[in-house]
Parts: sequence; C-alpha cells; structure tokens
Amino acid sequence: MSAETRSHRAPVRTDGPLSPGALLGALGGGQLGRMFALEARRLGYRVAVYTAEADAPGADIAEHVVRAPYEDLDAVAKFARTVDALTFEFENVPAATVATAAQFTRVRPGGGLLAVAQDRLQEKATFARLGLPIGEAARVCGPEDYAEAAARIPGSSVLKTARLGYDGKGQIKLADATELPQAHAKLGGAPCVLEAFVPFVAELSIVGARGADGEVALYEPFENEHARHILDVTTCPAAVSDTVEAEARRIARALLEDLDVVGVMCVELFLLGDGRLFVNEIAPRPHNSGHLTLDAHECSQFEQQVRALAGLPLGSTRRIAGPAAMANLLGDLWANGEPNWSRALALPGVHLHLYGKSEARAGRKMGHLTVLDRTAEGARTRAREARAALVAKP
Ligand code: AMP
Repeated sequence: MSAETRSHRAPVRTDGPLSPGALLGALGGGQLGRMFALEARRLGYRVAVYTAEADAPGADIAEHVVRAPYEDLDAVAKFARTVDALTFEFENVPAATVATAAQFTRVRPGGGLLAVAQDRLQEKATFARLGLPIGEAARVCGPEDYAEAAARIPGSSVLKTARLGYDGKGQIKLADATELPQAHAKLGGAPCVLEAFVPFVAELSIVGARGADGEVALYEPFENEHARHILDVTTCPAAVSDTVEAEARRIARALLEDLDVVGVMCVELFLLGDGRLFVNEIAPRPHNSGHLTLDAHECSQFEQQVRALAGLPLGSTRRIAGPAAMANLLGDLWANGEPNWSRALALPGVHLHLYGKSEARAGRKMGHLTVLDRTAEGARTRAREARAALVAKP
C-alpha cells in the first residue's frame, strides 16, 4: 500500500507489534535519523522521514520524505497519518508537533519524556523528585533570582539556558557568582539554570531502552571525552568499579521507568573522585556515545529504537567483541581536502561510518570511526590513530 493511500484511512492502532513491512516515521533527518532508518530497513521496515533541513542524510535512506517546517502542523498531521508509528531523532521537536502527530499515530517515546528533556529546569525537578544525585543547581529566570542563586552557588559554575542548548551552546562558565548578571544578559535573559561546576574525573553515559511491555535493556556505561564541548571519543567499557556501574544502571532504570519511556534514552553522568555519580542530563533518543553499539554489541541502540517503536522484544545489549572506542569525525577533517580513507581503513579493526552530509563545516558531525581491540585503552588509542591517519601528511 502506498503512503498516499494510507493517508486517508482512520488513525492507526497505537498498540500491538508492527510487523516488518510497516512504515516507520522519523521526525528529523540528521545522522541519528539515518542510522535509525538503516537499522529499520535492515529489519524489513519501510521508512518515512520528515525533515525541515535541505541537507538531510536520513532522507537518503527513506522511501518517503516530507520536507516542511516542524511548526507546520498540517504537514505534520498529514505525515503522521501516513506512518504506522513515529519517533524523533532530536529533542528540540516542538511539543505541539509531537502532540499533533500523536493524534494520528503511535509516537514513541511520548511527549512526556520530550518535555522533560527539552527543559533543563524540568529535568532538574525530575531528578530531584526521584532522589537522583545531582550537583547544586538553581533556577535563574530573571534578576529576582540572582541573590538566591549566588547564595547557593557562590563559586565556579556553569549557566545554561533551560531550552535549546546542546554541545556547549547556550552555556557560559562563571568564575564566581559576581559574573551572573552579565552572563545572564549574554544569554539574552532567557530562563536558565545555574549549576555548580562539578570537578568530575570522568564523564560517563548510559544508554538504555524500554520496550512497550516495560522490559528494560541497558548497555554497560560508556566513558566520554569531549573536545570544544563536542563529544570526541567514547570508550567502552568505562573504567569504573562494579559499584559505579550498578549505580549508573539504577539511575537509568529509574528514569526509563518513571518517565514511562518506550524507546531509547541516554543519561549523561559525571563521575566524581570519590566514586559518586551526578546526573548531568538526559537525551530522549539514541546518543552519540552509543554509536559504537553498531559494531560492538549484539543489538545496536538504533535497532533497539526500531524494536521499541514497533513493539517487538528488545535485543541483547551484550558486547559481542572486545572493548571498543568511537572517534567522531568532524568537518574540520576536510579542511585540506578529502580525508585519506584508505589509510585509516588499512588499519585492522577499523569500522567507518559516514553520514553522507554534503557540506563539511567545522564542528559538524560528518561520521565516526569505531575500533575494536583487546583492551579499552588500546581501542581508544587506535581510534585516535585511525582518525589521525585520515589527515596525516604522506
Ligand atoms: P551539557 O550540554 O550539559 O551536556 O554540557 C556540555 C559539557 O559541558 C559537559 O559534557 C561537560 O563536559 C561540561 N559541563 C556541563 N555542565 C557542567 C558542570 N556543572 N560542571 C562541569 N562541567 C560541566
């Protein structure tokens, strides 16, 4: 049945498993949508992508593409009617878009998780309600909040816009609270959260999925290094004790269950020197740090997303190979021309993933490399070497 003939039928049922052949929709056509689409197609599903962007690598994989603004609720409604189920690949989908789509099709995860993940103030309130460990934080919505925030967090801190921040955008580091009024003005006076600077020894993430039946499947924690506020290298397994791993799992499970997630979610964590974990933020979707699951784990985070959306049992999160590391490939690597793919791929155990983006801008995520090795340290070193080989002079 074509997408067009489907568009006139009654709202589809929003429960029960969808068999391969069904049309799965994704809001957003970036690399996450692309990897979702690739996994969906491998499982025999058809894929439809709704994207506002012209350069949308997810659209290349879809058999049905709609290009329209996310605020165009008529277009969203029409799209939602055509698909059997819908997911999204980024957290800044407007709430009204998801609510509109949900009138016509199964949307997973639902708008509740999205609302929390879109707003750092709501996110912090959720962590506090669940008794999850977080650093000191205070709301800063206007000058009336400055005194209390400064009293609670007098020392070094990070001011973050409550909404629409990512990869370090919408964030300012403060040496102390005297800088708060100026920093808030720089962020346009938008609703913000002031966070005490956390002296972490490592950043971790834990990616998990929850199925329609409430089954939870968690990957082992990953260890993340950032460069210029953008994820640079992920290593798995993270070098943490069993106690830390158990705590990470407890936190992820608590959030997946409380927020009634059906889909994939990532929790970003700070590891402190004394072994405590603080929750930083959640992503209501597959996460960059989970890309290595495509090569290193029995069922990737994108396959879990497909399975949860379709109402199928989740897959195993067991690692099938030795430790792994993932290095992001940013547009900067193209600064002096096409990277030397042959040289990187000549190295053993290197898996290349490119997202098919036509324009390589500095800081833009163009692809990633995954390397498997006998040790986590070895995988990390070799992932960096493989990336360096892309631009090494002959
Ligand atoms: P976020 O957008 O909240 O994930 O922040 C981006 C990055 O900034 C994090 O991955 C950390 O490296 C750093 N960062 C954010 N918040 C804090 C904090 N409260 N203390 C220390 N570093 C932080």
